[in-house]
Amino acid sequence: DFATGDDQIVDEYDFVVIGAGSAGAVVANRLSEIKSWKILLLEAGGGETIHTEVAGFQYTAIRLGASWDYMTEKHEDGITSTNQKNGQVYWPRGKILGGSSSINALIYTRGNKRDYDSWKEQGNPGWSYEDVLQYFKKSEDQRTENLVDSEFHSTGGPLSVEQAVVDLPMIQDCINACSKILSYNPDYNGEKQTGCFFHQLTRRDGLRCSTAKAYLKPMRSNLHVSPFSHVQKILIDPETKTAKGVLYKKNGKSMTVKARKEVILSAGAVASPQ
Ligand SMILES: Cc1cc2nc3c(=O)[nH]c(=O)nc-3n(C[C@H](O)[C@H](O)[C@H](O)COP(=O)(O)OP(=O)(O)OC[C@H]3O[C@@H](n4cnc5c(N)ncnc54)[C@H](O)[C@@H]3O)c2cc1C
Repeated sequence: DFATGDDQIVDEYDFVVIGAGSAGAVVANRLSEIKSWKILLLEAGGGETIHTEVAGFQYTAIRLGASWDYMTEKHEDGITSTNQKNGQVYWPRGKILGGSSSINALIYTRGNKRDYDSWKEQGNPGWSYEDVLQYFKKSEDQRTENLVDSEFHSTGGPLSVEQAVVDLPMIQDCINACSKILSYNPDYNGEKQTGCFFHQLTRRDGLRCSTAKAYLKPMRSNLHVSPFSHVQKILIDPETKTAKGVLYKKNGKSMTVKARKEVILSAGAVASPQ
């Protein structure tokens, strides 16, 4: 129910976004806030399934084609991973609306304050912890009762976050044991980012909240989403050396789409460089 009908897809948009993953779904949604802009989001994979909704079932989804199934180069000097075959390690990456956010382990852990601050110190204005915190909060719909009023969290954003408190004696024993070495931290995305804690998860009412669910549902009418659309080439104008469109394959057919303003490459850490 995310897909735009093929008959509605046109030949030219203001922005063409490649890859509807953690980054692409958000970028496409935010661009569509400008009503006069037309955006096309191209994704090689299809829609989410029951296997991506339920945490833990994502491994079934991965086996059913929701992953690119990459293998690393062969490690000649031996490898200890259990997830290897003949020295090559299995490297899953989402091939689905929501990208890897639709097959990941849901753990919602923000970067460390000092990392962001050091980015700013190295000459990147706008990247300090204080700067990025407002965007974490803008995206967040924190649903954990004791966190909703925290200065580090927010409610009403598109991305639902729930704490995975498991009320079982065995888990409580684990927490008690860990707390002997590390103090219990009720919010590791807050003031202190270390300790012993229950994870916060990108989850809505117990089900996965991928970026597809968070940012493409509902969708504005100026944003078109085309699944099963494998981008094969970015078309560069040889004179201006700027991206003017992309070539993609859908249902065995090669198609071209032009971009009036920009082509945005958000195909993930492996496929973007590729
Ligand atoms: C199994 C697993 C578990 C993980 N667990 C966690 C976790 O618990 N917590 C956490 O924070 N992170 C986790 N991660 C990492 C996290 O999910 C990723 O870092 C994040 O989703 C990457 O976002 P991205 O936008 O860079 O790429 P992706 O989300 O991977 O999106 C890239 C998208 O581009 C599409 N694409 C690629 N090539 C093309 C093409 N040629 N044409 C069209 N579309 C294309 C892909 O199909 C994909 O949908 C996990 C990752 C995996 C794989």
